[in-house]
Amino acid sequence: MFYTSTRGDNNKVTAAQAIVKGLAPDKGLYTPESIPVLSQQEQSNIPNMSYKQVANLVFSKFLTDFTNEQIDNCINNAYDNTFDNDEVAPLYKLNELTQILELWHGPTCAFKDVALQILPHFLTTAIDITNEKNDIAIIVATSGDTGKAALEGFKDVKGTKIVVMYPNTGVSLIQKQQMITQDGENVHVIAIKGNFDDAQTAAKNIFTNTELNEKLLQNHTKLSSANSINWGRLLPQIVYYVKSSFDIAQGDIDYVVPTGNFGNILAGYYAKMMGAPIGKLICASNSNNVLTDFIKTGVYDKRREFLKTLSPSMDILISSNLERLLYEISGHDSTLINSLMTELDTNGYYELPATLKEKMQQLFVAECASDIETQQAIAQCFNKYNYLLDTHTAVAYYVLEKLNNNNPTVIVSTASAYKFPTGVYTALKDCHPTVDEYQLLKDLESLTNCEIPKPIQNLEQKAVLHTLLCDKTDIDATITKLI
Ligand SMILES: *Cc1c(COP(=O)(O)O)cnc(C)c1O
Repeated sequence: MFYTSTRGDNNKVTAAQAIVKGLAPDKGLYTPESIPVLSQQEQSNIPNMSYKQVANLVFSKFLTDFTNEQIDNCINNAYDNTFDNDEVAPLYKLNELTQILELWHGPTCAFKDVALQILPHFLTTAIDITNEKNDIAIIVATSGDTGKAALEGFKDVKGTKIVVMYPNTGVSLIQKQQMITQDGENVHVIAIKGNFDDAQTAAKNIFTNTELNEKLLQNHTKLSSANSINWGRLLPQIVYYVKSSFDIAQGDIDYVVPTGNFGNILAGYYAKMMGAPIGKLICASNSNNVLTDFIKTGVYDKRREFLKTLSPSMDILISSNLERLLYEISGHDSTLINSLMTELDTNGYYELPATLKEKMQQLFVAECASDIETQQAIAQCFNKYNYLLDTHTAVAYYVLEKLNNNNPTVIVSTASAYKFPTGVYTALKDCHPTVDEYQLLKDLESLTNCEIPKPIQNLEQKAVLHTLLCDKTDIDATITKLI
C-alpha cells in the first residue's frame, strides 16, 4: 500500500515514509492510494475480538511495510496499562437507541490519547524501517487537547523532540496547566499570542520553510507532525469506529461526532469505506460552524469571526482534514484539490462542484450548537440519565436531539467533563463567575458523584516548567532556537 499527496506530488511513499514526513512536500496530506476492505470472514470475527486485536487487523491493512510483530509491539506499548479501561474505548448505553463511545480513558482524559499514545511508537518503528539517521522534531499546534496528549506520548522517546504551540488565551485553565507542568527531557511548550488557526498556519509554514529545514538538517534534525495531518494520527482512530459498529450489531449505526479539524469524523468515513456497518456521519460543530454551513451548502467560507466557545478544542475555522475527504470523494482529483485550497488561501472561501456536494451530503449530515444550547444539553443529559457530558460531547448530544434521529446512534464522547469544569458546572448550577477552576473540580465532584479522573487530581500543585510566550511573527525564530 502506497500513499499519495492530496495536492498531486507524484512521489508515492510507503506508510513508514508518510508517518516520518507528516506533511507532503507540496503541503498536501498523505492519503492511502486505495481503501482496504474487510472480508466477510474478518467482519464476522470482529465481535469476538479485543480492542487490540481489531487494532492489529486495521493497522496491518494500512501499514503494509510494518511486520506483524512491529505492529503488535506498537499496540502493546500504546495501550497496555495506559488507559484506565482495558477496552480503550468502552460503550455506555444511554437508552435503547443511543450509546456513548467514551474515548477519554487515557492519560490526558481526551480522545487524542487513543492516537497519540501509539503515534510515537509508529514513528520510532517507521524511523527504523526507513533507516532515518536524523533526530525527529515534532511540531504540534494545539487547540488544547492535542498538545498535552502529544507531550505525554512523546516525552523521553529516544530520537525525538517535541515542541507544542498553544493559543495563550484560547485553552481552558486545566488544559493549560496540564501542558505547562509537563515533565520530560525532550519537551518544549510555547504560548502563542494568537488563536489556533494562527498556531496551525505557523506549524504548516515551518514544515515547508526550506531554509529552516536545511538549517535543522545540519543539526541532524528533521521535522514531523503529530497533528491529524499525519496519517499515523488518523489511522488509530479508525479502530474504534470499526470495533464499536460491529459490537453494537444493530444494522447501520449513525455516529454523531463533535468536530473541529475533521480528523475524528474522517476516521469514521474510512471505517465505513472499509465495510463497517456505519450509516450517516453527523458532524456536530459549536458556534464556529464553518463545517455545518459547508456540509449544508457546499460553500466553505472561513471569512467570519473566530469565536471563543465553551468547547475550545473545536474552535477552528480551517479544518485541515477536509482536504482528505474531498480528495477521496473526488476520486483523487488533486488538480481540483489544489485549486480549492488555493481559493481558500487567497479568497477565504471555495464552492464545491455540485456532484461532489451531493456525494458529501449522502455521507454527512451537519448541525451546530451555541454555548447556551451546549449547556442545556449537559443539564438535560444529567437530569435525564445521570450521565455527565463534557462541553464538546454535549455539542454532539444537542445536535442528535435536534435532528430527531430514529436510527441507532453512537455519540462519540471526546473528553472527560473534568477538563472543562467551568462550562460543565455552570450548566448544572449557578455559581459566582470568579470561582477558581480547581475549586470547581471539587464542587463538580460533590454535585455529581462522578469521580475526578486521576490525571486531573492534584493538578494545581504541580510545578510550572514552561513559561515561553511568543508573538506570531517570532515563531520560526523561537523554534529554531529551541531545537
Ligand atoms: C480535538 C477535539 C475535538 C475535535 O476533533 P477533530 O478531530 O479536530 O475534529 C473534539 N473534542 C475534543 C475534546 C477534542 O480534544
